[in-house]
Amino acid sequence: MANATRIFPSSEVLTLARERALEPILKTENLWKVYRSGKLEVAALRGVNMEVFPGEFVSIMGPSGCGKSTMLHVIGGLAQATRGRVLLDGNDLTTMTDAARTLLRRHKVGFVFQKFNLLPTLDAYHNIALAQHIHGNGFDPHRFEVVANLLGLSGRLTHKPSELSGGEQQRVALARAIVSEPKIVLADEPTGNLDTKSSEAVLDLLRQLNKDLGQTIVMITHNPDAAAYGNRVLHMRDGQVVDGSTVH
Ligand code: ADP
Repeated sequence: MANATRIFPSSEVLTLARERALEPILKTENLWKVYRSGKLEVAALRGVNMEVFPGEFVSIMGPSGCGKSTMLHVIGGLAQATRGRVLLDGNDLTTMTDAARTLLRRHKVGFVFQKFNLLPTLDAYHNIALAQHIHGNGFDPHRFEVVANLLGLSGRLTHKPSELSGGEQQRVALARAIVSEPKIVLADEPTGNLDTKSSEAVLDLLRQLNKDLGQTIVMITHNPDAAAYGNRVLHMRDGQVVDGSTVH
């Protein structure tokens, strides 16, 4: 993974976005998340300000416990912020009811998790097709075929997750995430459960989805080699984004 080629440096991405007056697809303003358990409080996010523009592949990197997963959950609407704002495609998640947030998440966000989170009783085909149904616009066979081909899954669709390798399961999870054309894909340590070869394959695919389909992606990772696949890297420490510049 060390020879990951860069696409273009962050400064160029941001300059281009600003020149074209693009609105960020995702923006956080002074974002806080405090976990409370009895008298104990843990501030996992401490005033995060960040922006992601359409077409970017942003990696968020930092050591274990710095708040990466919390950030992904809050920006994806899976968890409620304690303070501050999250604007997703112009919608403020922090002022929404749980039901409205769930609806928005279904329409705008594709998730990829470290442990794949596929439904074990369904084959690959139905795991992916179900995502299209849940999205609410019905089944689109053309989009399904494009995605399955792109991810090299055409020959594996009748297999259940237990009959697929880890790399194949993550490719099904990627297909499920993008089949409904989400505004943004949020990936939580997507290679955390994979060997080196499968990790490279999944990261190459993420990069291809970004380049070929223009898919906006935010990926969190503690691994610098994985982070380098993004075209911009944000560094987190102790609940804050400490550096938004690229590392390569
Ligand atoms: P990372 O993904 O970078 O490992 P996390 O977002 O998982 O970091 O955790 C950030 C901090 O918040 C850590 O101190 C962690 O122990 C704490 N934390 C995470 N989830 C919870 C929770 N549900 N309840 C209490 N504390 C939590």
